[in-house]
Amino acid sequence: MALLVMKFGGTSVADLDRIRNAAAKVKAEVDRGYDVIVIVSAMSGKTNELVGWVEATSPLFDAREYDAVVSSGENVTAGLMSLTLQEMGVPARSWQGWQVPIQTTSAHSAARFVDIPRANIDQKFEEGMKVAVVAGFQGVSPEGRITTLGRGGSDTTAVAFAAAFGAERCDIYTDVDGVYTTDPRITSKARKLDRIAFEEMLELASLGAKVLQTRSVELAMRYKVKLRVLSSFEDATETSGTLVCDEEDIMESKAVSGVAYSRDEAKMTLVTVEDRPGIAAAIFGPLAEAGVNVDMIVQNISEKNYEGHTGAVTDMTFSCPTNQVARARKALEEAKAAGEIAYDDLIMDDDVAKVSVVGIGMRSHAGVAAKMFAALAAENVNIKVITTSEIKISVLIDRKYMELAVQALHDAFELDKAA
Ligand code: ASP
Ligand code: MG
Repeated sequence: MALLVMKFGGTSVADLDRIRNAAAKVKAEVDRGYDVIVIVSAMSGKTNELVGWVEATSPLFDAREYDAVVSSGENVTAGLMSLTLQEMGVPARSWQGWQVPIQTTSAHSAARFVDIPRANIDQKFEEGMKVAVVAGFQGVSPEGRITTLGRGGSDTTAVAFAAAFGAERCDIYTDVDGVYTTDPRITSKARKLDRIAFEEMLELASLGAKVLQTRSVELAMRYKVKLRVLSSFEDATETSGTLVCDEEDIMESKAVSGVAYSRDEAKMTLVTVEDRPGIAAAIFGPLAEAGVNVDMIVQNISEKNYEGHTGAVTDMTFSCPTNQVARARKALEEAKAAGEIAYDDLIMDDDVAKVSVVGIGMRSHAGVAAKMFAALAAENVNIKVITTSEIKISVLIDRKYMELAVQALHDAFELDKAA
């Protein structure tokens, strides 16, 4: 029997009417002959409310109890979805994580899947159940306690079930109708993509396009799960939404598929550090220990002789989220005070944003970087840091030019037009 996984996000199950709307979409697939595993999020706003209650009760909360509380939102929607389907005449049953059981690590609030045994759910399908409604975002630890997977984790639950049950496809229903070439709030020329490769989606997801949890895309890529992102507020057709798929399933691609941005970035430069083996480790070790998420790293080799320095020196620049600047600074100053590193100055610029162009086509198209820099130059946008990977070029620029840069790049690579 062919099986589909359908995941409904918080806005798609925000009230009883919307749950009915979502259930009707599930029923339509059952009527087409599918067995369905439905993964539900909590009603929109619910998880935030639960997190707020935990924090108000206990600022330094016990993570086991945090998980006990915040996982409950999904339990409510799972039960309601199952009841709604039953009212429509569809044999459905709800499952909390421990009932499946969805086995995870014991890293509370950030647990990872260990195994999803199929036996319990398969048996119910054999007995005539048509829809298993599973509470997303949760599992059970080896110690038998409820765990959660990190915010946005229901996406990852959906993909994990699609992989475990060999689903034909994993449909992620949300409040947008797909993945766009860039944020439509920044340019009205943003265009919905029919298809996007896993790797591109991974770059876009981690660059701040918040449609899918990054880990869900990683899992989908590893297990080759066909993922479709679509709106629960429209009538789906065969071509609705965006298919996130293997590179091989994309016929032709442009050099660039999308422009991503991340607004709250900071740039920090250590001026004149010694240029010797071990210096990068001495700088980034303490930053990692302090929990700073370093993103771009640029080291300049300097041949010059600086006053007061006998050996070779270099500058080291890195970026991190603006809200981690204080922590980064403290870690570096402590390392300096302890004599582990030496630098003349620490320059901090927390008024920058990161803009990136992403595309698997970059591997075969030449001149993408040159075109990107020319487009920014034409708008008089100064580039402060550049980094590249095989399918991505990122720049740091002054935050006030972020929208302008996104629009200029979207135009330069003609992303409003299909490939
Ligand atoms: N309800 C959880 C959250 O808001 C998980 C999810 O919806 O994916 O993070
Ligand atoms: Mg989400």
